[in-house]
Amino acid sequence: MNGTALAVPFFDNFVGKSKMKEDFQPTPAYAFQLDSQDKLASFREAFVIDDPNLIYLDGNSLGRLPKAAIERAKQIVEEEWGRDLIRGWNKGWWEAPARVGDKIGHLIGAAPGQVLVNDTVSLNLYKLTMAALAYRPEKKRIVTDTMNFPSDLYILQGIVHSLSFSGGAFRDHEVIRIDSTDSGLTPDLAALESAINEDTALVTLSHVLFKSGYLYDMQRITELAHRKGALVLWDLSHSVGSLPVALDKCNADFAIGCTYKYLNGGPGAPAFLYINKAIQEKVTSPIWGWWGQNNPFAFGLDYEPAPGANRFLAGTQPMISLLTMEAALDPLLSAGMDSIRAKSILMTNYASTLTENLLAPFGFSLGSPVDSARRGSHISICHTDGYRINRALIEEMNVIPDFREPDNIRLGFAPLYLSFMEIWEGFDRIKRVMTEKRYEKYPKQKLTVT
Ligand SMILES: *Cc1c(COP(=O)(O)O)cnc(C)c1O
Repeated sequence: MNGTALAVPFFDNFVGKSKMKEDFQPTPAYAFQLDSQDKLASFREAFVIDDPNLIYLDGNSLGRLPKAAIERAKQIVEEEWGRDLIRGWNKGWWEAPARVGDKIGHLIGAAPGQVLVNDTVSLNLYKLTMAALAYRPEKKRIVTDTMNFPSDLYILQGIVHSLSFSGGAFRDHEVIRIDSTDSGLTPDLAALESAINEDTALVTLSHVLFKSGYLYDMQRITELAHRKGALVLWDLSHSVGSLPVALDKCNADFAIGCTYKYLNGGPGAPAFLYINKAIQEKVTSPIWGWWGQNNPFAFGLDYEPAPGANRFLAGTQPMISLLTMEAALDPLLSAGMDSIRAKSILMTNYASTLTENLLAPFGFSLGSPVDSARRGSHISICHTDGYRINRALIEEMNVIPDFREPDNIRLGFAPLYLSFMEIWEGFDRIKRVMTEKRYEKYPKQKLTVT
């Protein structure tokens, strides 16, 4: 990926704290000053931070462990599973997908009754895409982009592949992927607009792109799609918990998202789906399981969909993981998404300044939008030796970013537990890897998980 020229417009989208309107200084003293004015600083205490020397910049891939989740997990295992046994289903387990869904709804602008926690992002994309295609049976086109998360693209391809076997009218679907204007950083919005035509059943995009961090204008794209009669499905995996989302206000049809990234729900915690109230009764899940049945404990022989979004549940959910994740949401809910977004913008702006000041001389470029209004809570910094630099950071410098092909080192900034001093220190260590040429001893051959 080629980076763009670095001209960072500071505070373009930042509200409040007007007295910090001077340019960022690439110094530790300045990071210290930002920390001293940070209203969210105390939330760090809510997380397990065993190694204060570790600079963790991968909260966008796996969030840190909230202390409340430890207590809750212990209680779920020892009391609810160990003592209550089967009685647990009547003590809050059965309703958990909807209850926890409503809590997540607070973070994504969804009124109660529209969000359900269940399955994985990939599976929810499958269910909702199939539902959308069945709801728009005369339309054949699915529009997405080449920067979308690969699993999302695979699921869409798999759907088109399976539908191609069906007889009658329900076939001949196609996936149109619009490209970027600048090697993977910014989507070509003009191409997107013209790809959405009268034959489009569904537009599905990642709200924040997993590599460049580009943030789509949800309101605008949703309106555009609706004008052509298409439905819209947003993947919120990289936006939920890092910035305010307004699904109801934008009148989005569907959304899906992850809970182990900025929601700190733990590895493999179940995902969520959103179905706008207006269409819940009009759409059907392609997977008819007993959890989505109108009256599951009647054990009737024929499927009848449950009212509302519940019909999109299929089978028994991972309760230990789901309920642990519920406890993990508390710090986010009490901090509020507006404060989180304000700090996140300061962090990505500060990181952009440090990229320019400390790293550009070593051949790094910014692989993310310079305008913070169009950016999520992570940035990519690009370097031809990115893979080896990333390994040196993890193995020698106690810095954890992650690497994404072809040359992106992705730096995630989770506002609830990351400090500006840590960002400073992280960049200083990247600079040391470069001045000491520490990356040169690593092979170009990649490990399985990057
Ligand atoms: C992390 C992520 C996923 C994860 O999908 P799973 O099926 O839950 O593993 C999906 N989409 C996007 C955009 C992601 O960032």
